[in-house]
Amino acid sequence: METADFVINSRSAIKSRSEDQSWKKPEVLDRAYALTRMAVPRLRLALHRMTLLRPNFIPGVIGLLSSSAELALANWHFKIDKAKVPLRALDMACQLFQRMLLTAEIASRESNPRFPIFRLSDATDAVAYAHLGGFYASPIDVARGRGVSGMEPESCIYLTRLFAEQSARDTDGKLVKLIIHELGHYCGGKIDSLDWIGHMASPIPKPNGSRKEDGRHNYRDMTSDEAVRNTYSYTLYALPELGYGPPSETNVSRRR
Ligand SMILES: [Zn+2]
Repeated sequence: METADFVINSRSAIKSRSEDQSWKKPEVLDRAYALTRMAVPRLRLALHRMTLLRPNFIPGVIGLLSSSAELALANWHFKIDKAKVPLRALDMACQLFQRMLLTAEIASRESNPRFPIFRLSDATDAVAYAHLGGFYASPIDVARGRGVSGMEPESCIYLTRLFAEQSARDTDGKLVKLIIHELGHYCGGKIDSLDWIGHMASPIPKPNGSRKEDGRHNYRDMTSDEAVRNTYSYTLYALPELGYGPPSETNVSRRR
């Protein structure tokens, strides 16, 4: 599940390396858009699943729309039950899923000129990277296809040579998780906001996961504030078949 990406805040500058450019072929972008089309139903379902959980967090209301397993899954990934105001945490996660879904739908629409969300880059050794809050990039920059002061536009998600290599071998769409992961960074706030989406904790290794560079706890012990700003949480909630749901209590180590 680990994705070798990183995020760029708007104050960072990325320099392009002059390397072999022959990997930059249209089919690499085509594969990214195909993966985005595969992500759309997963994001739509994730949003529906979360929305159906809403009654569970309204005081005095008995939630009957979802199973206890669905509730446990949402609480594991987003720690909604640990939040001071659970409904606010749930709604923040729903809002991010809405923006991710909207972005993926627009980006993958074929009947209109594509919203050119993907670009190829040889600036890093990562598989992909996104600018925090790229969703909120200036429409002028989007139209011009360039960023402030001639830097690369924040309105794009960048794919590298590694993505080109991995996607060529990815016959069953495993890289959908990478697209959803990057959409998380992209659709959260900018770096100076309260809702930027980073790397708080990874669920690897099981059962408790591990703290990542932006967080203070492992996956199991994340606070709700951390969990709703953790792009791994969105990715794994949307792709439950990857098997990173809540561990059974007997497997949970209480050690930190
Ligand atoms: Zn990331």
